[in-house]
Amino acid sequence: MYVLKIVEDYSFNDKRVDLLTKANILANFAAESSFDDNFNALPLKRSIEIVGDARVICLDRDTKVLFDTSETADLIGKSMPVGLVANALEGTENAEISNENGKTYINAAVPVIKTGRTVGVIYIQSPADDMAEYINHIKHNLYMISVIVIALVLVLSLAFSNIMTAPLSNITAKISDMSANDIRKPIDIKGTSEVNELVAAFNSMVEKIDLVEEKRQEFVSNASHELKTPLSSIKLICDSILQNPDVSPEMVNEFLNDMNEEVDRLTRITDKLLNLTKMDAAAEETEMINFSVINLRNLIKNIVKALKPLARQKHIKIETHLLEDVYARVDADKIWEAVYNIIDNSIKYTAQGGWVYVELYRDKREAVITVGDNGIGMEAEETEKIFDRFYRVDKARARETGGTGLGLSIVRSAVELHKGKIEVESREEVGSLFRIIIPTVVQ
Ligand code: ADP
Repeated sequence: MYVLKIVEDYSFNDKRVDLLTKANILANFAAESSFDDNFNALPLKRSIEIVGDARVICLDRDTKVLFDTSETADLIGKSMPVGLVANALEGTENAEISNENGKTYINAAVPVIKTGRTVGVIYIQSPADDMAEYINHIKHNLYMISVIVIALVLVLSLAFSNIMTAPLSNITAKISDMSANDIRKPIDIKGTSEVNELVAAFNSMVEKIDLVEEKRQEFVSNASHELKTPLSSIKLICDSILQNPDVSPEMVNEFLNDMNEEVDRLTRITDKLLNLTKMDAAAEETEMINFSVINLRNLIKNIVKALKPLARQKHIKIETHLLEDVYARVDADKIWEAVYNIIDNSIKYTAQGGWVYVELYRDKREAVITVGDNGIGMEAEETEKIFDRFYRVDKARARETGGTGLGLSIVRSAVELHKGKIEVESREEVGSLFRIIIPTVVQ
């Protein structure tokens, strides 16, 4: 439309200037005659050929036609009050396009000025069919080009969007299929680099879900196994008493003691499982962590106090080295649980008469808690596994010590909740050293 408008304006302007120039020349010739009933058309007629096939009309001040080149119209003596003529009489020359009986004309009117006075008007009507045809031709071509371009754009954009979205639809279909049939396997679809990135991200997510699922199943099977062992013992003891009517009261007492131990074990396992679930929940939802600034020195003192009786039973000496107050923003209950488990382990895995060493100090923006013992220790490769859930170095011995294999996994979860870390060094028959490092200010 814009191009068309420019072409139209350009063509019209061209003709307009041409026609106004010719009209002015004619007006000059016409000015030689007097503009009354004795109007002499000769001077005008002499130069009329400059307008070619255009019709020339000469009017006086009252818009009365004095001269007309059209022989058929017979306007002589009649008034022709058209807008252009009125304008010309006021001194403004102008031109405009008009349509008559399906034909296009350009009309121009200029005043005829004689000794400074407007005495009449020269009006030219020039056929402009060639111009209209030319513009129509351009219009037609432009329409054709537009239609072709629009069609091409549509077809190409459809084709491109299909090419671009085909891998995405494939991915969506595969993902829907996976969730509908509860299967997890990597997708193998290639496309643009974005599609490849999406596929890679999805595949790594599938891998992670697999791992989590594997861990969950392992945990459930371990937990059931751990719970089943004391339950089987209890069942066995019950059966022994029930099937033996002559069992002595002393025997019953002994059986009940055994049963009591098993119930204690079950309680320990379920307590630790609950603790672990709490840590997991806190890791998912940080609002469940109750941060407050506490003095770790007091916390450790209280833990040592609580564990003293246990140590005394085994004639183990707990040595503390708590020289400075170390304030840290922590969840006191969770840090208590972690440090308690570590010191409890050191007492558990140290022989009668041994020692346990507890130290606290600040290292720049970190609090360091070390717990050492001269206990049974463990092989170097065990130190990586002991933080796994239900992992125990020596299952038989762990049963004697009442171990559940959950203590250190609780410790690790608690430390990770505080964005800290735990390290361990150990040598068999020499002893172990655990080190908990937590930032004093959690970001
Ligand atoms: P448990 O309830 O069996 O003590 P933990 O998760 O607390 O479970 O510990 C895992 C294993 O790490 C224990 O079974 C034990 O063999 C080993 N362990 C932990 N602390 C010590 C230690 N201070 N000395 C020697 N071995 C230890």
